[in-house]
Amino acid sequence: MRRLIAGNWKMNGLASSLAEIAALRELTGKAACDIVVCPPFTLIDRAVERAKDSKLAIGAQDCHAQQSGAHTGDVSAEMLANIGARYVILGHSERRLSHGEDDEIVLAKAIAAHRAGLIAILCVGETRHERDEGRAIEVVGGQLRESIPERATSADLVIAYEPVWAIGTGLVPTNEQIEEVHAAIRQILEERLGSDGRSVKILYGGSVKASNAQAIFGLRNVDGALVGGASLKASEFAGIISAAV
Ligand code: 13P
Repeated sequence: MRRLIAGNWKMNGLASSLAEIAALRELTGKAACDIVVCPPFTLIDRAVERAKDSKLAIGAQDCHAQQSGAHTGDVSAEMLANIGARYVILGHSERRLSHGEDDEIVLAKAIAAHRAGLIAILCVGETRHERDEGRAIEVVGGQLRESIPERATSADLVIAYEPVWAIGTGLVPTNEQIEEVHAAIRQILEERLGSDGRSVKILYGGSVKASNAQAIFGLRNVDGALVGGASLKASEFAGIISAAV
């Protein structure tokens, strides 16, 4: 399966950061994987401009479930598609924790993303406490079962396994832990989508860097990465992209 490397800039990036998009676009022509960068809403429009006529895709980090209406401060999937975004990250643990997003909301947003023609990158992952209790698979399984739209396909759905305790901490699960969760995700995808579930990309996210990317990409059922901090500088992100052969 062709790998996907996704960069999540989170709440980082000013106009000057568009230089990173310009630098990345040069890399995408030669890259052996698909690449998407998800800057904050304020930069999407201009990032799409910079990435024009290249294989670099631009995405968003969230969308509202409704198409339009009285939702001050929110942005709909249709608005994102309208300015050229192709992906949207949904259910990131930072949104689940600080914006109270639950599986029901994530499902509604994923349906909205598909309605607008966007590819949903659906994030799942357990907390440290849940892992310590031996509930990682149960938690991730529950999140998936509750938030994958009924009509999802491998063309419009990507799953990102991001253990909450590995995000921005420098901690990475063992190879066995990653493979165990990714295998469980694959099983659920096949239950839900039949044989097409085998073609849904499953990304690993949480402290991915150029120095550990190659080892992570070598694991079974790991089809790419969702990268936070190390995606902010094109030079650093390039190291991860080149590990994805
Ligand atoms: P870090 O790569 O900074 O750990 O962040 C991971 C993440 O949350 C990507 O969505």
